[in-house]
Amino acid sequence: MIVSNLPRLQSHWLPIVTSPLTQFFISKTPKKQFFINSTLLSKPLSTTLFTKTPEKNSSTLQESRNQEKFVETPQIELSLEKLFLPPDTDVSSLTTPLSSRVLKGSNIVLSKYASDAQVDCAEFIKSSVKTEECPTDGLPEFALVGRSNVGKSSLLNSLVRRKRLALTSKKPGKTQCINHFKINNNWYLVDLPGYGYAAAPQELRTDWDKFTKDYFLNRPNLVSVFLLIDASIPAKTIDLEYASWLGWNQIPMTLVFTKCDKRKKKKNGGRRPEENIQNFQELIREFFQTAPPWILTSSITNQGRDEILLHMSQLRNYWLKH
Ligand code: GDP
Repeated sequence: MIVSNLPRLQSHWLPIVTSPLTQFFISKTPKKQFFINSTLLSKPLSTTLFTKTPEKNSSTLQESRNQEKFVETPQIELSLEKLFLPPDTDVSSLTTPLSSRVLKGSNIVLSKYASDAQVDCAEFIKSSVKTEECPTDGLPEFALVGRSNVGKSSLLNSLVRRKRLALTSKKPGKTQCINHFKINNNWYLVDLPGYGYAAAPQELRTDWDKFTKDYFLNRPNLVSVFLLIDASIPAKTIDLEYASWLGWNQIPMTLVFTKCDKRKKKKNGGRRPEENIQNFQELIREFFQTAPPWILTSSITNQGRDEILLHMSQLRNYWLKH
C-alpha cells in the first residue's frame, strides 16, 4: 500500500498558551473517577472489536501472570478529562462503558481502530544519521526516545519479544543514529539516541539534539513519539523540557513510564512510581490542551507491553485510513 503521501496523524494535544483560556481547557472540577488497574485487559477483551489482540502462548502467559502476582499495580485515579480519547472516538456512541475501554495501566481509551497488534516478525533495517537517510517506503513509524538508561532497549526487546534485537542500536557507531526496525513488514519502530548522557561531550550532545529534532519535525510518516520516562525516580528537568518541546511543536506523543516494578523507597527519594508519574504529569500539564496518552510499563514483568502494541495499532490504523 502506498502511504507516503498520507497526512500525519492530527495532533490532539495542542500546546496551550498560559492564559485565562488555560482555565477553560483544563477543568479542575472532579468528574467521574476511574481506577486504572481495574480496566481493560484485566478483563476479557471484546471479541468483536479487538479480535487480533496479541496472543500469548500458555507458558509465557503463565510466566507473566506469576510475575504479575508479586507486583503491586499502582492505582492512579482518572477523571474523564484526563483520559486520552483517540481520534474519531465518539464517547456518546460507545456501546460498552467507557471505563471498560481504558487500557490497563494507562489513560488510553481503545478505539475501533485497534487491531493487528501482534508482532510476528521484527528485523533491523538500517541506521541513519540524517532524516533524509531514513527509509523511504512511507510506512508508518513510532519513535522511541528517552534519557540514557531509561530502559529503552529493554522495552524495545520486550515489545518484539526478542532478547537482543535492540543490541543492534547499542553497537559502537549506532548509539547516535536513527535505527529503524521493521515490524511485520508493514510498520517501523524507530530507536532514537538516548539523551542526557552526562559523559558525552557537549558538542556531540548538541548534534544529537539537532538531528533528533529535525527528524521529529520533518518525518511525515512519524505517527507518534513514545517518550520514555523513568517512573522509579522523581521528574528530571531534561525530561520535562523534552515533553514540553514536543507539546509546543505539536508532535504527537505518548508518555511511557518505565521501571514501574521498582518499588524500593530508599533509592528514589521515598517516592513510589505512581507519585513520580502523577507529579510528572502535573508538571507538564500546562503545555498540553488535553491530556497526552500515558502508559505504565515494566520490562521485567512485561507490564504494558500488549497495551502499548494495541495503542500503536489504533494510532497506526487511523493514520493509514486518513
Ligand atoms: P537504555 O539505555 O535506555 O537502552 O536502557 P536499558 O534498556 O539498557 O536499561 C538500563 C538499565 O535499566 C539496565 O540495567 C536494565 O536492566 C534496567 N531496566 C530496564 N528496564 C527496566 C524495568 O522495567 N525494570 C527494572 N527494574 N529495571 C529495568
